[in-house]
Amino acid sequence: MTAMIFSALAMTAIVGVRYLLSSGGFALATRLKHPGLYRGLEPQMRREIGWSLASAAIYGIPAGVVAWGWQTHGWTRIYTDVDAWPLWYLPASLLAYLLAHDTWFYWTHRWMHRPRPFRIAHAVHHASRPPTAWAAMSFHPVEAITGAVVIPALVFLIPIHVAVLGLVLTIMTVMGSATTWGGKCFRARLFMDQSGGG
Ligand SMILES: [Zn+2]
Repeated sequence: MTAMIFSALAMTAIVGVRYLLSSGGFALATRLKHPGLYRGLEPQMRREIGWSLASAAIYGIPAGVVAWGWQTHGWTRIYTDVDAWPLWYLPASLLAYLLAHDTWFYWTHRWMHRPRPFRIAHAVHHASRPPTAWAAMSFHPVEAITGAVVIPALVFLIPIHVAVLGLVLTIMTVMGSATTWGGKCFRARLFMDQSGGG
């Protein structure tokens, strides 16, 4: 039990520190290159950091519990022996994870652009105008949960080598940059406008 809580806290700390370092780095670079760009946005940045740190816990806790269960109880279908599956399965599982994640993201995001979920949850993300470097994880808890459950659920369903899982997480981190997110929001909004969904 203690080990499980420790694992959840450690994972939360890892996600939170990763956010503070990467967003802090971008914020610093922005300050050096464009001094005054964020002037007057301090209250918005404080909100972005608050939502983001809450999201770090929402992402960290399920990941930490699953990592603990994998280590101590053999939960999940994560494997470490590279010969456990044929070699072609390594790239195949990578594609399967990315495809499953993207499909999930696409549909939940489209759902969040419907009027009610948008008002309740997704408006938090779109309140960042212009988004500062701190907005990277600025999601309402409802939105954070829909994102946080994907990988912890997939590892129970689709076998994956632990190194491929690391690669999946790295690719997701890079792709999940604010730019990608902004582009997806833009497209989702276009779609909803055309379909009359708001
Ligand atoms: Zn959106």
